[in-house]
Amino acid sequence: MKIKKTMISWMDRVILDCKQTTFYTVKEIDHGKIPWLKKLKYKTHLSYCSHCKKFYKQTKKIDAVLKITPEELEKNNRYQLKLNTKTKENIVKQIKKNQNYYNL
Ligand SMILES: [Zn+2]
Repeated sequence: MKIKKTMISWMDRVILDCKQTTFYTVKEIDHGKIPWLKKLKYKTHLSYCSHCKKFYKQTKKIDAVLKITPEELEKNNRYQLKLNTKTKENIVKQIKKNQNYYNL
């Protein structure tokens, strides 16, 4: 029993859990300073945890999309939505329906 407690205590000091890793992912993407030892533990966790790796990639993509300005959106075809005519018509129909519902 004591050995198990010692192992858990040792693991806590050496390895970050997913919750801590998520915190450091957000901090790193926000260009926050992470102490080198924490960063080492963070990178180590990312190297083997597929969930945290996925969270890192998704957070980075969201961050990149949020930094796109409306001007860049209009200029660059890469960001254009590619919807077919039927879908566009349905969206317009739904917007008009909601405008009528809320008396806008
Ligand atoms: Zn994880």
